[in-house]
Amino acid sequence: MSANQILVFSEKASLLRELLGKARQEADALGWQVAAVVFEGDPAAASLGSAGADLVYPVPPAAGESPERLLNALAEVARQAQPAFILMGATKVGMEAAASLAERLDAAYAPWTVRFQIDPTTCAATAQCMLFASSGMATYQFTPGLVVLTSAPGVFPKPAEVEKTARVVSLPLAQPQGRLEVLGSREKVRGATSLEDARFVVDVGQGVKQREDLALVESVASLLGGQLGCSRPVSSDRDWFPEWLGLSGKKVKPDLCLCVGVSGAVQHLVGIRDSQRIAAVNNDEGAPIFNQADYGVVADLYEFLPAFSERIRARGLRPTWTA
Ligand SMILES: Cc1cc2nc3c(=O)[nH]c(=O)nc-3n(C[C@H](O)[C@H](O)[C@H](O)COP(=O)(O)OP(=O)(O)OC[C@H]3O[C@@H](n4cnc5c(N)ncnc54)[C@H](O)[C@@H]3O)c2cc1C
Repeated sequence: MSANQILVFSEKASLLRELLGKARQEADALGWQVAAVVFEGDPAAASLGSAGADLVYPVPPAAGESPERLLNALAEVARQAQPAFILMGATKVGMEAAASLAERLDAAYAPWTVRFQIDPTTCAATAQCMLFASSGMATYQFTPGLVVLTSAPGVFPKPAEVEKTARVVSLPLAQPQGRLEVLGSREKVRGATSLEDARFVVDVGQGVKQREDLALVESVASLLGGQLGCSRPVSSDRDWFPEWLGLSGKKVKPDLCLCVGVSGAVQHLVGIRDSQRIAAVNNDEGAPIFNQADYGVVADLYEFLPAFSERIRARGLRPTWTA
């Protein structure tokens, strides 16, 4: 196995392709190989060549059952493949496994990477990483040696597809063990279009008081062809939506994100800051969301939303993304 290899893993297919694209870019400059780790039986495995992978290492599906099992499987792959560099998705699962993986492999580690380069002469890596939910940035200069980095979805662009088939290499791996037993699972409820692909998102905050009031927000979303997102407490405490936007949730980048009754906590902003435009409706003129918004409306959302919907209907407005 080669030490001149970048090993890439994410359990999220689209993020894996983004990371492979970035790894390919670095590997080309260094004359290295790029290898992806996937779960056995993943039909997309061979097609990962089109995103830049030279090799694919399948791991037993049981590795996907807990971060602990994933960690054990990845550590075993790394021991056998001896990569020079490991790039992982900054998802809940990936973040939990990556730090422990670095510790297990005695490697350097940095999370929330937004840029990195590997020096072709020294093979030492430099990485710029977000700090404090992206209110700060750190630059790390690593000494040569194994480095584990994590990156969030959308940091690196999806690579253009190339005509290439990755070679699937089956390493002799034992079933990954773990102390957690999965007793059951259920599918997440999903909308027809994924939030990440939506061109218009109405972002619901705790200022929307009752579940029935969602009708007001849904009305604007459907008039303008949008999807609903929300802040964490609206999902985790009230259970109105299966997922939320933010640091520990989904990241969106629509043409327009309309924040309704959202205060603008930094952990939430991480999920919406890549929107082309942010508009906010809040009855508190001091709400931090107004520091981030391109358009701000200081108003009671219960007065604003019906009037706004009425105005859209009366004028027959159609946004460009529904054309
Ligand atoms: C480690 C950590 C990670 C976190 N990760 C996330 C994350 O990923 N995503 C996330 O969202 N949060 C996250 N949080 C929580 C975050 O800090 C905030 O608590 C949360 O985002 C606040 O949600 P909110 O804006 O809906 O509610 P609030 O902060 O309660 O804001 C409600 C807003 O609605 C306005 N309002 C009230 N009534 C009206 C009305 N009638 N009309 C108009 N406006 C009105 C208020 O003025 C207020 O600004 C995290 C916190 C921690 C500690």
